[in-house]
Amino acid sequence: MNPKTWVECKISKVVQETPDTVTIRVALPEHESIQFIPGQYVMFGFLNGEESSRSKAYSISSSPSNTKWIEITVKKEGPFSTRMTKLQVGDKVKIRGPIGHFVFKDDYKQDIMLIAGGTGIAPLRSMWQYIIERELPNNVKLLFSTKIPEDIIYKQELEELKKHNKNVQVTVTLTRVQDGWDGRKGRIDWGMINEHVTDFKNTLFFICGPDAMVNDLQKALRDNGAAIGQVKIEKWGIQ
Ligand SMILES: Cc1cc2nc3c(=O)[nH]c(=O)nc-3n(C[C@H](O)[C@H](O)[C@H](O)COP(=O)(O)OP(=O)(O)OC[C@H]3O[C@@H](n4cnc5c(N)ncnc54)[C@H](O)[C@@H]3O)c2cc1C
Repeated sequence: MNPKTWVECKISKVVQETPDTVTIRVALPEHESIQFIPGQYVMFGFLNGEESSRSKAYSISSSPSNTKWIEITVKKEGPFSTRMTKLQVGDKVKIRGPIGHFVFKDDYKQDIMLIAGGTGIAPLRSMWQYIIERELPNNVKLLFSTKIPEDIIYKQELEELKKHNKNVQVTVTLTRVQDGWDGRKGRIDWGMINEHVTDFKNTLFFICGPDAMVNDLQKALRDNGAAIGQVKIEKWGIQ
């Protein structure tokens, strides 16, 4: 596949992650395969109907080890994404890609801190799956903020990560505090980052989420001495 050519694909799996978020698996046709770097995205389009005149960007949330399909995790927002959340196995769609510079590269030997707000966790999942599958030695810390327990995307996978991967540390923080939640509460801020970081100068930070969160945390990291290349961000233009 290449970023300039649309490829017609079929939906081969749909997972309801939360009441308003689904992960769809997009299977490539027999003769196609995709090579991408974790963190990249694709352009997605419909073949017919009102939304077929437009296309939108979606991060690849699966590992690049799978070259015959990709997964996309999408939250129901406007009409375009709402239609995506209604896709069913067998439906045909089109994608082109991969695109993007928000990437985890093999030659990064530093500690990795993945910082996500809401659906911003999607490209970071591709990164941690890749690091685990390749048995890369990076020490990985994930800080994931979302509103309420029902909004936790990849809940089962995060539980498994906590149990079985010594070099991946997962912290989920909820911003709308509820009774019965004994985990972390509050927004991700400099204090929370500083508490979890082991070796600041030797850490690469990957941040994806609402624009305000990405901007604030990038600034906080820079104000506290992070070099430009140490902080990698992806903004989706969402509030
Ligand atoms: C590089 C890139 C990668 C992206 N990857 C993803 C992805 O993996 N998953 C995904 O769901 N979206 C992703 N987006 C956003 C996506 O392209 C669409 O903008 C989004 O699905 C909304 O489109 P819409 O037309 O349905 O809603 P619109 O009518 O464009 O938006 C409706 C409202 O919802 C807000 N909004 C849009 N998306 C979200 C969201 N995810 N969470 C909270 N509020 C939101 C917007 O700010 C707006 O106010 C990505 C965007 C970019 C630029």
